[in-house]
Amino acid sequence: MDELTDLYQQILLDHYRKPRNFGALPGAPRSAEGFNPLCGDRVKIFVDLDGERLRAVSFEGSGCAISTASASMMTEAVRGRTRQEAGELFAAFRAAVTGEAAVPDAERLGKLVALAGVKEFPMRVKCATLAWHALAAALAADGAGGAPISTE
Ligand code: ZN
Repeated sequence: MDELTDLYQQILLDHYRKPRNFGALPGAPRSAEGFNPLCGDRVKIFVDLDGERLRAVSFEGSGCAISTASASMMTEAVRGRTRQEAGELFAAFRAAVTGEAAVPDAERLGKLVALAGVKEFPMRVKCATLAWHALAAALAADGAGGAPISTE
């Protein structure tokens, strides 16, 4: 294992053991649930928008280390960004974890690049993108509710 891989694993483990922004967001007008049947991961994302900007983002749920770490890192990465910026970040993240981008956009992704290694494990891609799909659903919805989105 090289040093970079080791560093990335430490970041993921840290977010898995101590998830950031975990728990329902009181009064958050937007939320969406995601389910990854391949792995059993469940996540619910809460978003509080200030105009076009994501004032606060949190999550609840249970799942594997990858899905939990990814949700935790996502909440930190998108907070304070506009909806459009969050969408662009999701696109860069998805390209990195699916391997669509031969080289991840590290500058844009920041710490999220720690999850890029997932592309070597196709079964895990949905674990890594689940929270992002739920965020997109929460932002697209006109409010709370709606059926849980599935990665299938
Ligand atoms: Zn999973």
